[in-house]
Amino acid sequence: MAAHDSVERKYVYDFAEGNKDLKDLLGGKGANLAEMTNLGLPVPPGFTITTEACKAYLTTGREPDGLAAQIEAHLESLEREMGRRLGDPDDPLLVSVRSGAKFSMPGMMETVLNVGLNDRSVVGLSAQAGRNDRFAWDSYRRLIQMFGKTVCEVPGEEFEHALDEIKRAKGTHNDLDLDADDLRGLVDAYKKIFAKHTGREFPQEPREQLDLAIRAVFDSWNAERAVLYRRQERIPADLGTAVNVVAMVFGNLGPDSGTGVAFTRDPGSGAQGIYGDYLANAQGEDVVAGIRNTVPLQELEQLDKTSYDQLLGIMARLEEHYKDLCDIEFTIERGKLWMLQTRVGKRTAAAAFVIAGQLVDEGLIDLDEALHRVNGAQLAQLMFPRFQLDHEFEAVAKGIGASPGAASGKVVFTSARAVELAAEGEAVILVRRETNPDDLNGMIAAKGILTSRGGKTSHAAVVARGMGKTCVSGADELDVNVPAKRFTVGDHVVNEGDVVSIDGTTGKVYLGEVPVMPSEVVQYFEGELDPETTDDALVRAVHRIMTHADAARRLRVRTNADTGADAARARRFGAEGIGLCRTEHMFLGDRRELVERLILASGEREREDALAALLPLQRADFIEIFREMDGLPVTVRLIDPPLHEFLPPLEQLAVNVAVAQERGEDVAKEEALLAAVRRMHEENPMLGLRGVRLGLVIPGLFAMQVRAIAEAAVAVVRDGGTACPEIMVPLVGAVQELETVRAEAERIIAEVVGDSGVEVLIGTMIEVPRAALTAGQIAEAAEFFSFGTNDLTQMGWGFSRDDVEGAFFWRYLELGIFGISPFESIDTDGVGRLIRIAAEEGRAARPGLKLGVCGEHGGDPDSVHFFHSVGLDYVSCSPFRVPVARLEAGRAAITTTGSDSR
Ligand code: PEP
Ligand code: MG
Repeated sequence: MAAHDSVERKYVYDFAEGNKDLKDLLGGKGANLAEMTNLGLPVPPGFTITTEACKAYLTTGREPDGLAAQIEAHLESLEREMGRRLGDPDDPLLVSVRSGAKFSMPGMMETVLNVGLNDRSVVGLSAQAGRNDRFAWDSYRRLIQMFGKTVCEVPGEEFEHALDEIKRAKGTHNDLDLDADDLRGLVDAYKKIFAKHTGREFPQEPREQLDLAIRAVFDSWNAERAVLYRRQERIPADLGTAVNVVAMVFGNLGPDSGTGVAFTRDPGSGAQGIYGDYLANAQGEDVVAGIRNTVPLQELEQLDKTSYDQLLGIMARLEEHYKDLCDIEFTIERGKLWMLQTRVGKRTAAAAFVIAGQLVDEGLIDLDEALHRVNGAQLAQLMFPRFQLDHEFEAVAKGIGASPGAASGKVVFTSARAVELAAEGEAVILVRRETNPDDLNGMIAAKGILTSRGGKTSHAAVVARGMGKTCVSGADELDVNVPAKRFTVGDHVVNEGDVVSIDGTTGKVYLGEVPVMPSEVVQYFEGELDPETTDDALVRAVHRIMTHADAARRLRVRTNADTGADAARARRFGAEGIGLCRTEHMFLGDRRELVERLILASGEREREDALAALLPLQRADFIEIFREMDGLPVTVRLIDPPLHEFLPPLEQLAVNVAVAQERGEDVAKEEALLAAVRRMHEENPMLGLRGVRLGLVIPGLFAMQVRAIAEAAVAVVRDGGTACPEIMVPLVGAVQELETVRAEAERIIAEVVGDSGVEVLIGTMIEVPRAALTAGQIAEAAEFFSFGTNDLTQMGWGFSRDDVEGAFFWRYLELGIFGISPFESIDTDGVGRLIRIAAEEGRAARPGLKLGVCGEHGGDPDSVHFFHSVGLDYVSCSPFRVPVARLEAGRAAITTTGSDSR
């Protein structure tokens, strides 16, 4: 098929033919070189081979038909324009061959410079450069080195080694001390290395050099480091790279030449000004290799004022044209300035907000565009505390930065000890080999979590991120010995109680305390920093953009909170209600005993007593939450624990009973408990007696909760407040389950609320696939749906949410079966489809049905966009993620023509 097609297809574009919007086809570098060419800026002439050509090559293993001829034609026109021929012995045109994908992948793919040099043209180059033999031979040895390494996989160290040898023989460390003869000798040595490894001589034919270099750039798309980088940055694997063939200009022709990089604003802080580095008499790779120290760009003014002024003019022009921070690479060849690259520059999270705000002030972009240019991941980063690393601290280990932030505290090795010390007001770091759900309390109590195993999707990482808690995972230099309560790292032994500090962004682990600075953005959300009066540019920018996001968004943002303190914080962070108040934890701690009595009750009387004792406690819980959320909706979910979580572990209980029997003690109570635990033991508790099933099995349990909710609401209203309770039934799979619960609840509510004016909605979670597929029926009995995407993902994929992330997700991620854990970001094709079906069928059955989501995905940026697109009314997420969800809901609601914020 391809033969006919590809002859027709245009694979090569002159710079004059492209523009900045053709990044898909020409890659970022090619598209921007074209844009600059068309702006009339001094760009060396050249052409771009498209990503389409690369993709065709990578799929078939050979260059597509027509490509060679198109390259030939464009090369000829380049030669005409330059008045020189590629590799001409007397006056050679030399070209660089550079990769350039749609998204920048710095240093991940290949570049070959000085293509066109050979044993003859090296002489011509020298003449052309004013009898500069040294320069010509230096250029030639660079070509052999780069070509050998990238095109023919000759080990780079061999070239380095030969260069070191020559320098040693000459008694110098500096490349610049080598003269033309030394470099000619080096070329000979390099050629021998090349021949030894490839079994052939270094190719002398310029066009062969060019073709092989192009092919090497294509191949470098699939180099291991490029694959890893793409996975890390979530860049699709099938984009391919473009190849830019550009006439060489030289920054190493003498002191009136040089090379540099520049930013139009500070990419670290966003501050306005001129930032960059310059290196005289050098080529770009010398800067990267750090052979000599660069000087600040401002010093170019003294060295070459004309070029400096011209460069500043071009930078201003580029900023105005791109309406954004640009980063630039340039070369000066004997006093003439050439632009080698520009792009919208990468920046820190803080700079992204500050710059977006500045550009609005400067009238270059509007607030919609400013909102488009920042994202929730950046905001989340800014909400973590960070270390005040103003003097050097030495890290003793480096793991994976699994959940950002910084934390210092005393080392503990068990969840129980973490809780104990935290209760005494100590900051603690929970150190484990890996965590499991039993560590939850310890994780909540700790300032940070450090594990020696597991990656970004390990239990520790996922849970910590959800909590907004600092976590370093997989620090495998740590040898963690939990029973001995110590870990060792290198020569250090760290015992329980010793202080360590962890940086969840870099993954570094420090011994001792490193001072931590709070996030000013959190201080602003907490109301401690006034955005109108602060001189903190970041806070002002965040405030402005958040205000716009709030005005723009259609989705409401609620929070998942089950304590008054969480509810209060979330409200300060902008939550517009509670989307999920889990009631399970209200049954733990000192109430556990009541629950045991309830579960083990032998008769109606005993059960009723237990429930009667729980009722006032639950009522008080709800009163506290309704008060904090005064006037805002509060969705209270009826209890949904896997039952075993309330009962002692079977093995432990069996041992206790056996020991007590041995001693002849009275164990009647323990035996009853053991029998009950045996009876209720489940192989798959997540699929067992939980949620609505429990409510239907234990008489009076849901009724007690409904009564507590209604009585709490009435109490708040009688006190002059406003309570808007929404009762939510978990784990419903069939409308009949909901109808049964509803009938009883309505009866109780009617009895309790009387004429108080309290209105109580009754709805359901949609978290079992069957519920999604029968949503039309379920909507008849529900005033709202809230998607429980944790369970919906678990049951949609058949993945145990407690086990799989640690067990095998790493492999799935490696194979690209998914790019990110479906527990973190919603699987739009599968689980998302269930949501779409339920939303559509639910609303068809009950127009205006309120729809929300309260699984972890409610605070995930990509998922928020999906929920916006399916028309949900709100998302609900943990308090810390509320601002992120507000921002992303705003971003989802605006449409801009602006560039991708990646
Ligand atoms: C869910 O399943 O998404 C949910 C919110 O409920 P839980 O996480 O408590 O099971
Ligand atoms: Mg659930």
